[in-house]
Amino acid sequence: MENIEGGAIIKQDLDCMIVQDLLPNYIEKLTSDVTNQAVEEHISTCEQCNVLLNIMSAEITTKKTAPKRELKFLKKIKLSRLIAAVSCILLALIFSYMLYASEYKFTSDKKVLAAAITEYTSHGRYKVADAYILETKEIDGALIAFFKDNNSPNVYGFARLLKGINMKYRLVSANYGPCAYSAIVDTYRFDTRKGAYYAVGGHNLDKRLHPMD
Ligand SMILES: [Zn+2]
Repeated sequence: MENIEGGAIIKQDLDCMIVQDLLPNYIEKLTSDVTNQAVEEHISTCEQCNVLLNIMSAEITTKKTAPKRELKFLKKIKLSRLIAAVSCILLALIFSYMLYASEYKFTSDKKVLAAAITEYTSHGRYKVADAYILETKEIDGALIAFFKDNNSPNVYGFARLLKGINMKYRLVSANYGPCAYSAIVDTYRFDTRKGAYYAVGGHNLDKRLHPMD
């Protein structure tokens, strides 16, 4: 009897080992119908393997679904971060452009330039009360305006403006002051990307600007 019992225990252990070896494939439904039936028959009578099946099923299902969820979550985070980043960049660009456009706001229209110079020089030592543009010349993205003050007959000067990507200008400097003579020839040196230029302005003489290298 002892031998038979012992043999039965060994047989039971062997069945358990075989079933337990098969469980991963069984859970993933990789086993054949015949195997499935054998496994199920064994599990219906073996508490140990039944418990193991439940544990392994739970483990395998979590392993399979967890990374997917994590990945989706990561994707969502990445997408929202991307959207946030793109929005930030767009806002920054819009803001920069608005700032830029607020700086580069003048057209080359003489009245616009005159108003710009009057405004600009209002912070300076000599105020040009009523700027009047005598001549303008554009060289290498710089616009040179030779101007006088309608309110003071002896005030002349040059204003330099830079052209922006919005095709408008920003006033960057103005050289001007009272002059002792009513007819003048004045020069103004300025630098561009292509080198230095001298603007020559004459009033009551030749009103054109003659830029030279
Ligand atoms: Zn078993």
